[in-house]
Amino acid sequence: MAVAHKIRTKTGKTRKVSLTPLSAIRAFCLECVCWSRGEVKKCTDPLCPLYPFRSGKNPSRAGIGGKIKGNLS
Ligand code: SF4
Repeated sequence: MAVAHKIRTKTGKTRKVSLTPLSAIRAFCLECVCWSRGEVKKCTDPLCPLYPFRSGKNPSRAGIGGKIKGNLS
């Protein structure tokens, strides 16, 4: 269920991407921390509604589709 959309980039330009809900959250988180991937992982705001999904994975689906539950890295 991806949709084409235009997003901001680190350089201040825009680019067209194909977004799923999870990849949109991931893109939002990257923008939130000035595009530093490590900072998304180290996010210190667990009360943010996007926090559980910031890695680009849905934690409620861990273990579904052959993935090992708890392995979110
Ligand atoms: S989860 Fe953290 S990085 Fe993502 S939008 Fe919220 S505060 Fe920003």
